[in-house]
Amino acid sequence: SARTRVYMISKIDKHTHQIISSSQVITSLFEAVKELVENSIDAHSTRIEIKIGDTIQVIDDGDGISKESHELLGRKSFTSKLQQFNDLQVINSFGFRGEALHALCQLSDLTVITSTQSPIGYLLQYSSDGELKSSKPTHRKRGTTIQIQNLFLRYPVRYQEYKRNFKKETTKCINVLYSYCICFPDIRFSCTTTKKEFETGGKGLKHVLDDLFGSKFSIDLIDFKSKISVEDNEIEFYGKISGTKKARADTDRQYVYVNNKPIVFPKLLRKLNEIYKEYNPNHYPIVILHIRIPLDMLDRNVSPDKRTILFEDETKIVEEISQHVRELYLPSKTNFVKKETS
Ligand code: ADP
Ligand code: MG
Repeated sequence: SARTRVYMISKIDKHTHQIISSSQVITSLFEAVKELVENSIDAHSTRIEIKIGDTIQVIDDGDGISKESHELLGRKSFTSKLQQFNDLQVINSFGFRGEALHALCQLSDLTVITSTQSPIGYLLQYSSDGELKSSKPTHRKRGTTIQIQNLFLRYPVRYQEYKRNFKKETTKCINVLYSYCICFPDIRFSCTTTKKEFETGGKGLKHVLDDLFGSKFSIDLIDFKSKISVEDNEIEFYGKISGTKKARADTDRQYVYVNNKPIVFPKLLRKLNEIYKEYNPNHYPIVILHIRIPLDMLDRNVSPDKRTILFEDETKIVEEISQHVRELYLPSKTNFVKKETS
């Protein structure tokens, strides 16, 4: 016999609600690093140093954080980037939700060293609920250092997972950092991990690709650039794609950016891979593709990591870019020969 139970609905208390919702923003090392690097880029840094080990540090030479903001930094939904929902159609910063640092306060022991004017800086420590615990004057060149210790330690299951996957996650971090290096070739990045170190010189894309992947990497890449008109709007796209010789056995070097933000765009990449396969079976092209699109044709607020984007007229965009790439490979343009697949 079925028993009837009566449940009472009641509101979760504010504190619990904050913990539940914030601990979802960052669930892995890679997401933590990504959020910090994006903050440094938003702060107009020209140099960003990333250290991944027991302690995670992101050190930049950006705008710094003004004294009035020190108290607010760790609070949920405190951001200097967005004031109202409609701003999303005007602003192009990575951040707009004011969630990452609050989440990191909850998930780790967060220390911030920041200066808006050399050499006067502050060393700030935050409690797990995002309140400023202590503030001490210190020397610091203009810029910000964010330091994370004991990441996930307060969440035993996630902590175990984090420890177990640390190497794999580090590799993921490195790959995601590559995509920022390529997107911002004028920023100097340096990254130190227990696995690997790399550095980019901030001297343009060609040099960055040399720095990351070696000087042979870009030899065979074809440049392209074009436009799509959708009603009154113009969408620009440009970038580089493999020519005949230097394809890869994997899809590991495919980077798509919308308005200078790394995104995932499987629908488009699948198309490009299909086209490429006709010429070079079992291989995938290197792709570096920038799309510039009016902000009001986008919805960036779809996924927590903001890497999935909704486009107006997505089908048309995919079609036109694919068509353009198809034409790059026409016999008149390259010596690319279609191979018969058996
Ligand atoms: P969001 O990026 O969505 O604004 P965050 O929680 O990531 O939210 O950061 C909160 C605020 O802290 C930012 O709006 C910015 O004002 C400040 N901030 C964070 N990191 C930096 C940094 N590296 N340099 C300067 N300001 C920063
Ligand atoms: Mg942010």
